[in-house]
Amino acid sequence: MKIEKYSLGVGDRFGHQGEAQLRAIINAVKLGIDLVPVWNKSNREHSYIHSKPSDTRIEADDAVKALSFPGNYYVDADHINLSNVQGFLDSSDFFTLDVASKIGTSSSEQDLELFLHSTKKYSGKLYIPGIDSPFEVSEELLMSIAQKFLAAIKEAGKIYQYIKDQKGAANFITEVSIDEVEVPQTPVELFFILQMIAYQNIPIQTIAPKFTGRFNKGVNYVGDVAQFAKEFEHDVLVIDYAVKEFGLPDNLKLSVHSGSDKFSIYPEISRIIRKYDKGIHVKTAGTTWLEEVIGLALAGGDALDLAKHIYKTALIRQDELCAPYADVIDICQEQLPTAEEVDLWDSQKFANTLRHIPNHPDYNPNFRQLIHVGYKIAAESGVHFTELLEKHHEIIGKCVEENLFERHLKRLFEL
Ligand SMILES: [Zn+2]
Repeated sequence: MKIEKYSLGVGDRFGHQGEAQLRAIINAVKLGIDLVPVWNKSNREHSYIHSKPSDTRIEADDAVKALSFPGNYYVDADHINLSNVQGFLDSSDFFTLDVASKIGTSSSEQDLELFLHSTKKYSGKLYIPGIDSPFEVSEELLMSIAQKFLAAIKEAGKIYQYIKDQKGAANFITEVSIDEVEVPQTPVELFFILQMIAYQNIPIQTIAPKFTGRFNKGVNYVGDVAQFAKEFEHDVLVIDYAVKEFGLPDNLKLSVHSGSDKFSIYPEISRIIRKYDKGIHVKTAGTTWLEEVIGLALAGGDALDLAKHIYKTALIRQDELCAPYADVIDICQEQLPTAEEVDLWDSQKFANTLRHIPNHPDYNPNFRQLIHVGYKIAAESGVHFTELLEKHHEIIGKCVEENLFERHLKRLFEL
């Protein structure tokens, strides 16, 4: 299996918006972008919602069938490791091997020596075609890279081997992710990480490093956009060189785990991939869930009441809901509206506060982030929530499609 040049990872916590998401993709395809969807869901999400990996497969298959989508599509076992991959084997054909937690784990003397030996030819000045100044590669740098990443990539090799034994090498796409960490990887680190991946014989097609800046959930990028662009461009060039040097798959591309809505860096990503004619995979995580809440608010009546209930409950249970996402949310307490205020809101006020239109006077990123992590409350509402989703599927579907197409794809591909 070989993934297309442009792919969009769509997340759908509750699995109801497959068609709406696919309509957004089809809109882009109609405008000439050869884009394929990848439905992604992590083990963590499944456990909160009590859904199964097979549900994601059914959602994808049904949407593709309903809209007669002629292109390829994939189902991503997102952020899996050896302890939980088993449940994803049947329904996924895209696996994101998450080895971030193994970064910094110690390696054997023998492994370290092998790495140092096999990278000897790159010590000194390392010239990457397209990058103006060479990287200085000292033995200390190589050693520090090995101590950080060697054990993690060896683990990725084990996970890959396991999936390969179960599914057969030709039947899935492999991504390696190391994005859920505090410290970004530099382009020179990425180069040697790719060397390790090649050494482990992982035919990697997408790689998700941690980029510079903050990728908070559901809100815009926080950081230095120019610095991001510089590193992103270097990463693209490093990958290009690594593919040739290490014999990695020639369609290897960056995967941006965006946490959704990184609008300010989309134009830079777009500019750079066009400049070098490279592919890209972007995962958009929880955007869809927020659009469901917006759609419920717009529907009014008991649907608006449920949207308010979700916020007000999240307000009380903030600590519990935010804990698993502590590294990827920044909520300013003083900026959160009180339950009493929200009670007085109409549909438009609620939707405008939540919807990500950065310049809208009502938009509140703190409100948005809290609801983003509040999907557990919707899950607890059970059939009441899903019945309302179904009852108002038209208005909600329109929100989901418009968000993905107008705010994401148009920016990402300059449509
Ligand atoms: Zn990620």
